[in-house]
Amino acid sequence: MTTIAFIGLGNMGNPMAANLVKAGHTVHGFDLVPENLTVAKDNGVVVMANAPAAIKDAEVVITMLPAGKHVLSVYEDIAPKAGKGALFIDSSTIDVESARKAHAIAAKHGLGSIDAPVSGGTGGATAGTLTFMAGGAREAFAKAEPILKPMAGRIVHCGEAGAGQAAKICNNMILGISMIGVSEAFVLAEKLGLSHQALFDVASTSSGQCWSLTTYCPVPGPVPASPANRDYKPGFAAALMLKDLKLAQEAAQGAGAATPLGAEATQLYQLFNAQGGAGTDFSGIINFLRGDAT
Ligand code: NAD
Repeated sequence: MTTIAFIGLGNMGNPMAANLVKAGHTVHGFDLVPENLTVAKDNGVVVMANAPAAIKDAEVVITMLPAGKHVLSVYEDIAPKAGKGALFIDSSTIDVESARKAHAIAAKHGLGSIDAPVSGGTGGATAGTLTFMAGGAREAFAKAEPILKPMAGRIVHCGEAGAGQAAKICNNMILGISMIGVSEAFVLAEKLGLSHQALFDVASTSSGQCWSLTTYCPVPGPVPASPANRDYKPGFAAALMLKDLKLAQEAAQGAGAATPLGAEATQLYQLFNAQGGAGTDFSGIINFLRGDAT
């Protein structure tokens, strides 16, 4: 079994760390928020006073932090102090450029590293069924794979440094665009006198079929487990969708890729967030498109 440092024990990090403990690993955890440390302790994580203390004896270091600036500042702090041969895994969703910088910091100190963002939300983190999309050298990925397993439903090696983050933002750009498309179709159906269920029954078995329709249907009824049935309680909050769409736009501008629908989706989610949608599920954008108050 492995000694793992886990830094960033928030909504995602805590249940992920709990699954590592359940798998028999020793997990040394740190977060800035004391309440999160209490939860971690209850889950069997050995709580440490700061990040350098957490990584002291760790063979693997996992970070699950809000954004690129947090990951880079934590890496600058701990990479020089890490044990020889330690493997750094960053599972936060961050911009591709910061991900590559994080790899470079690790490499400068002789450490293996992968970027390994996840899809599946807090439900997947709790159930241990997250999809990990990894970027980095094959050797580092091979070392990371068995560590990720207790937290994962699927683990995909996407390519070199930053490829995991690239896969994540491309996937979530599809998701943001498709949720708006599905929502617009329901709003149009309402105006045309077509019932939600009838549209669902046709589109879910026709060429309009997609995850935003069949798993996360933005109207209550057709998919009982979707957030629409619980007043758009997240789920995947609109604020996080906006964050990922902005990362995709930044990457598109940097790489010179044309993503006009990605740009439009970013603007719509920006407005939806500004008008009170930020804390609600991202499928609640249907209410904004309909012109309802959130
Ligand atoms: P969160 O805000 O709940 O957790 C982040 C944690 O990092 C916080 O507890 C914060 O205190 C801690 N932190 C910040 N700076 C720190 C530092 N210097 N040292 C130690 N701890 C520090 O966020 P989350 O929902 O757990 O998301 C984490 C990452 O995963 C984000 O990048 C997010 O985009 C991504 N993500 C989230 C979801 C989701 O559904 N919540 C799904 C997929 C990916």
